[in-house]
Amino acid sequence: MPELTIKSNLNSSKPTDNDRHALNQIDACVSCGLCLNACPTYGISRTEAESPRGRLSIIQGLLTGAIEPNRMTFKHLDNCLMCGACERLCPANVEYTAVMDQAKSWLKKKSYSSFYDRFFNWLVFKPWRIRWLARLTFLYKYLGMQKLLRITTLKPYQHTKANSLWKNYYPVAEGIKASGDVYLFKGCVSGIFDQDTIDSSIAMLNAAGFNVLFPENQRCCGAIASHSGDVKRHAELQTLNKNIFNRDIPIIVTSTGCFKSVESFRDNTQKTYDVMEFLQQHIPAKIEQSNKNYNPSVLVHIPCSQKKMCNSITASRELIKTISAKLSSINPDIACCGSAGTYMYRNKKLANVITIPVTNEITNTTPDVVLTQNIGCRMQLMNQTGQTTEAVMHPVTWLYKHYEK
Ligand code: SF4
Ligand code: SF4
Repeated sequence: MPELTIKSNLNSSKPTDNDRHALNQIDACVSCGLCLNACPTYGISRTEAESPRGRLSIIQGLLTGAIEPNRMTFKHLDNCLMCGACERLCPANVEYTAVMDQAKSWLKKKSYSSFYDRFFNWLVFKPWRIRWLARLTFLYKYLGMQKLLRITTLKPYQHTKANSLWKNYYPVAEGIKASGDVYLFKGCVSGIFDQDTIDSSIAMLNAAGFNVLFPENQRCCGAIASHSGDVKRHAELQTLNKNIFNRDIPIIVTSTGCFKSVESFRDNTQKTYDVMEFLQQHIPAKIEQSNKNYNPSVLVHIPCSQKKMCNSITASRELIKTISAKLSSINPDIACCGSAGTYMYRNKKLANVITIPVTNEITNTTPDVVLTQNIGCRMQLMNQTGQTTEAVMHPVTWLYKHYEK
């Protein structure tokens, strides 16, 4: 591996293996430009600095000392959604998102990071902070604080319940022989804003014959920290979760945005599953729908994180089809809905433009329900289309609602 001998404007300490890996990946880019048209930010601005190739050049310039880090260079990198659409098309297999994670960590050391990234990293690190946010969101709903919060760019999800009092353990019903135990991963955002998904996952896993272990002290997966360059916090969260989920049993993840981070704190032998993939493999009999006259039109949205990291798209589709055959998908070539972790807050204006092709498909298709497996996408689609929790939901919730119990 070539030694980093170049002058760096970003990293004053001795180059790490990750630094070298990032540099090698940038060197592998052949500047063919095949990634450009897949990139939502390039599609809007049509400028090289807002394209994947341009961002790789900026990072290289920062590393070689040719470019000084400043607010504008940071902005070009920060505008990237990390959707991975460029990576999927790249003939040279450049690991673009890994390079960006590394670049963000250098920029963070130089004190370039957005307020929202700092705020969310602070928030998700301690479970009590998230519980307080849940209570505030509940107050928002019931004490008429909408006006107050509308003046901020933080738009609370309007359908959260009061903080759910979950138990640590959900055994299968009495008289049913259990097939085994599984962990259920809550996720920091899902635990507040997607409680129906957690409740439905527990019920469906029990119905599939699995006792559900749901440790109350579990922490954020660390994806938000990782994508904002907070390597230290990401490592701390990974270690905490590794010690909490220490039994050699499968762990089930409901939000595709958490999947990769959860998988990375587990040992190689410990399996990580997307909830739909696991249910598709383990639901014992064919699912029957409770109302035989119900034949809804379903529009499936596939989150970037599901395309990039989970092997669950086909399994999820198979399971959804057991309830409705009137199934279509939002064009998978549309790169991103604009949610992208904290992006919909920190880059709100751009996010709301990026989302338009997706919301247009929803408006033109007029489905009975939109199903998506990432909580961030669900919030963004609801906010941008004005739809309710009943109209945009996680497929596991929809499945639980309509299968014959
Ligand atoms: S990850 Fe998405 S937004 Fe970022 S450069 Fe690639 S295609 Fe563009
Ligand atoms: S497709 Fe890959 S090799 Fe081609 S310009 Fe984009 S990153 Fe570089």
